[in-house]
Amino acid sequence: MDVTPTSIVAEQAELPTADVLGVKVSTLDLEATVRRVDDFLRTESTHAIVTADSSGFVLAQSNDALLQLYKSADLVTADSAGVVWAVRKLTGQRISRVSGVDLAFQICRLASLKGYRVFLLGAQPGIADRAAERLRLQHPGIQIVGTRHGYFPVEDDELVAAEIAPLKPDVLLVAMGIPRQEMFISRTADIIRAKVSMGVGGSLDVFSGKVRRAPRLVRRLKLEWVWRLLQNPGKVRKVALLPRFVRLVLRYGR
Ligand code: UDP
Repeated sequence: MDVTPTSIVAEQAELPTADVLGVKVSTLDLEATVRRVDDFLRTESTHAIVTADSSGFVLAQSNDALLQLYKSADLVTADSAGVVWAVRKLTGQRISRVSGVDLAFQICRLASLKGYRVFLLGAQPGIADRAAERLRLQHPGIQIVGTRHGYFPVEDDELVAAEIAPLKPDVLLVAMGIPRQEMFISRTADIIRAKVSMGVGGSLDVFSGKVRRAPRLVRRLKLEWVWRLLQNPGKVRKVALLPRFVRLVLRYGR
C-alpha cells in the first residue's frame, strides 16, 4: 500500500525550471509558486527559497558558496526583469516575474489563511516590528511569532538562530540583503528548522512603510529598478552589475 502523504507527492512533482547560468530558475507564475510553497509547508522538512535578481547571479560568479546555495535551493524565482529576460533569451520561454516582495506578501496571506507561524528577521531596529503591525492589519489572524533586526555579526548567527528556534516558525523571512541573508539561512536551517526560509531583501522596509513600492505603472514598464535607485542612490553599485549579467547570459547562450 502506498502511504506517501499527498503533500509529499505534490512536492516531488517536477518543478518546471529554466537553466540560467547553471541555476534552475522556476518558471511558475506567482500563484503557482505560492501553491508550491504551501506544499513545502505541509511537509516536515526544511526548504530554502531564493528570489534571484541579476546582481545575485553576478555575485554568485565570484562567490562559490552563494552559487552552491542557488544551485541547491528548493525553489529559485526570477526576482527581476533581468532574470525574466535571461530565461527568454536562453530558453525562449516567456515567464512572469516572481519578486521577493510579492512572494513574501502572498506567503503572509497564505500563513494567515492556514495558520502558519511566521518569523520576520532583518532590517534596521524597529522596522520588522512595524512591518509585523502592518501585516497584521493586512492579513488579520496572521501569527507572527517574533521579529528581530538584522544588524548583528556573522559570528552571532547561531546565537540568533537559537533565539528563534523555540518559537517554532514555519516560515522564516530574512531581510538582510544578498548574500548575507542566504548565508544566514543555510548556516542556521538545521537549528531553526523552519519549513520554508526565504531571503527577502528590502521587503520588510516596504511592509513597514519605510520604503514605498514603485507604482504599478512603473512596475509594468519594468522600471522598478529606476524607482528603487531614486529612493536609494546607494543601490547604484547593484544596478551597475546589470551589464555584466547581460554579457554572462549572452556568452552562456552560445
Ligand atoms: N540589512 C540588515 N543587515 C545588514 C545589512 C542590511 O538587516 O547587515 C537590511 C537592510 O536594512 C535592508 C535589507 O537588509 O532592509 C536589504 O535591502 P536591499 O534593498 O539592499 O536588499 P536587496 O537589494 O539585496 O534585495
